[in-house]
Amino acid sequence: AKASGRSTYRFYEPEMRLEAERWHQLSAELRDALAKNQFELHYQPIVRLEDDGLAGFEALIRWHHPLRGLVAPTEFIPIAEETGLIVPIGEWVLREACRTAASWPGHLKIAVNLSVSQFRHTSLLSTVVAALDGSGLRPERLEIEITESVFLADVELSLPLLRALKELGIRIAIDDFGTGYSSFSYLRAFAFDKIKLDRSFVAGIESDAGSLAIIRAVVGIGSGFNATTLAEGVETKEQLKRLKQEGFGEVQGYLLGKPMPRAQAEELIYGTALK
Ligand code: C2E
Ligand code: CA
Ligand code: CA
Ligand code: CA
Repeated sequence: AKASGRSTYRFYEPEMRLEAERWHQLSAELRDALAKNQFELHYQPIVRLEDDGLAGFEALIRWHHPLRGLVAPTEFIPIAEETGLIVPIGEWVLREACRTAASWPGHLKIAVNLSVSQFRHTSLLSTVVAALDGSGLRPERLEIEITESVFLADVELSLPLLRALKELGIRIAIDDFGTGYSSFSYLRAFAFDKIKLDRSFVAGIESDAGSLAIIRAVVGIGSGFNATTLAEGVETKEQLKRLKQEGFGEVQGYLLGKPMPRAQAEELIYGTALK
């Protein structure tokens, strides 16, 4: 349907206008969503493969829209980034995630996603420090996830910021590893604490030799750079078994647990879910 020709334009035009309208409406509603308490964090468990222990959780934002129901972050995060709303929303995420994790047992970590546009804002460092101070969470328990888009945007700006965050004791993870154009060069530019391999490689682990080769290479990179390796999107026992065999450090995915509300995460932590 994407082939060139006049019919293509007739096909796409109304669709694009509809999308633009939806974009405008969502961005207007997004502006009020914070004040109206429509955001919630869900928490997805991260499991260590060495001893099957719970290492912590990744915080993932949810928007409960009064009419549309649950709006996916893949839909509204790009709007928040473009409108600048990601700054106050990101602040809320950091505060809420740190506050929640601070109430959990001290060995559990919390991972928070940061957008590239949050790096453009000079207040990022003080926002993170305020979230830590306000909650009492030890910096070592906070992990910040970034994608390589942070480097593509403005290295001169983001590298010193990343270094400053790391100096505070915060751990830095590179997210969706392997999906970008030059992931390897970023490994040299910055000492990441964790490499999160994108789930597309995990999905191929059983069927194609290429994915397995990449998985092995990432294990080697992790040990070479002294970074923890984490495989995302683990959905089957076979994938889990393979990742363990290959020596991956941590796993995350529907097999281990979907992103869940705080109360459910706490049932998992305190064991009531297992009894
Ligand atoms: P991400 O950081 O790569 O997060 C992982 C996504 O994969 C999550 O989608 C999660 O629900 C999903 N996932 C986890 N395990 C599995 C699995 O086994 N199979 C499949 N098919 N999917 C799995 P979600 O929660 O919809 O988030 C989508 C993206 O939105 C995130 O991708 C992240 O880039 C962004 N995002 C979410 N929360 C935040 C936030 O608080 N701040 C920022 N800046 N971005 C966020
Ligand atoms: Ca992430
Ligand atoms: Ca990811
Ligand atoms: Ca992603």
